[in-house]
Amino acid sequence: MQSIDTYDFKGKKAIIRVDFNVPLNEQFEVTDDTRIRAAVPTIKKVLSEGGAVILMSHLGRPKKNPDPKYSLKHILPTVEKDLGVKVEFADDCVGYEAVTKASSLQPGEVLVLENLRFYPEEEGKPRLGEGATDEEKAAAKKALKESQKEFTKKLASLADVYINDAFGTAHRAHASTALIAEFFPNDKMFGYVMENEIKAIDQVLEKPTKPFTAIIGGSKVSSKITIIENLLQRVDNLIIGGGMTYTFMAAQGGKIGDSILEADQFDTVHSILAKAKELGVNVVLATDSLCADKFAEDANTQICPSNAIPDGWMGMDAGPQTIKAFSEVIEESKTILWNGPVGVFEMDRFAGGTKAVAEAIVEATKKGAYSLIGGGDSVAAINKFGLADKVSYVSTGGGALLEYMEGKVLPGVAAIRK
Ligand code: AMP
Repeated sequence: MQSIDTYDFKGKKAIIRVDFNVPLNEQFEVTDDTRIRAAVPTIKKVLSEGGAVILMSHLGRPKKNPDPKYSLKHILPTVEKDLGVKVEFADDCVGYEAVTKASSLQPGEVLVLENLRFYPEEEGKPRLGEGATDEEKAAAKKALKESQKEFTKKLASLADVYINDAFGTAHRAHASTALIAEFFPNDKMFGYVMENEIKAIDQVLEKPTKPFTAIIGGSKVSSKITIIENLLQRVDNLIIGGGMTYTFMAAQGGKIGDSILEADQFDTVHSILAKAKELGVNVVLATDSLCADKFAEDANTQICPSNAIPDGWMGMDAGPQTIKAFSEVIEESKTILWNGPVGVFEMDRFAGGTKAVAEAIVEATKKGAYSLIGGGDSVAAINKFGLADKVSYVSTGGGALLEYMEGKVLPGVAAIRK
């Protein structure tokens, strides 16, 4: 496997799969350029080594080709600003314009290709009308598989080397994220975004310094079950918080009032607890809760045991006893993985538990622990509290990170390693 740090880019054209799927406002201006800024080190590395760069990405979910609303030309001013270099644009990701502009690209120059998803070949998903029969669907899928090969080959033909730097789409086996790699058997590598994400996750999942604590919060057991099962093999402590708490309490005969409940997950809860016991994992549940009489910021509140919540009340956040117990375990840990808030942190009144978890992670990190925060809402939470720069790593991964934590092989990672 090649490395971006040692590869000789001189005189080469690198096609880089970036994640420029950024939010735009009604004037089509970029409202958050985090993902563009994240790709800058990889792009600059190629340019500074005497290479040229071709950037490819998707933007949104266009249903037709082309759909001007989803054109990547909207983001060009932001790319130029963040990169400090003028960039060229090809209004098609394959075809005449892409080929001519890519072939005349000189060292130090950057070309952005139009939205990959203007072609259904990128995702390999046929775009059929509502009334399509199963036969039509099967035929369309088969035809698309063939044209996807052609599409991928055309993309690959634009460059000499392939770099995947889009961790956010690494869990998809799309043309630009995985299939294209086979055209570059000796000239494919991860960019820095990918490298850093993989390093951080491997540090936690493959070689954690003990004690290793995972904090899993969020609303539902059902969406976290595979992650929990995979983590049980690896952790010393498993902290379970948030809405999931009440399914755990109810499964064990507790009274949870009107708290969020997944009654079909009782067997799952019992099997998680039995497995934890068998493996000697210390499961820490939220024993008390800050409860509210409605799901609103202006609700009346009281502290209740999490397994004795009166009717008409619901658990919204960790209670004081829980906060103390969670914090003690976290602060004694040497490796920490946090996914999911332990309360309805979007409402300030119910953000205390989640904030305390974030602060305990910061404390542990100060004492030398390695801390990885990942998965949409815990990232939003750590940003809300302004603590993102006080933990070891905040993942940009979303769905890709969750699948990695579930123990799945990500096609985008596998295609480079193969
Ligand atoms: P998830 O996407 O599964 O990680 O869930 C995140 C969501 O869980 C956030 O929007 C939180 O508001 C929500 N959540 C956390 N604790 C609770 C709770 N006690 N009751 C209801 N929702 C919760």
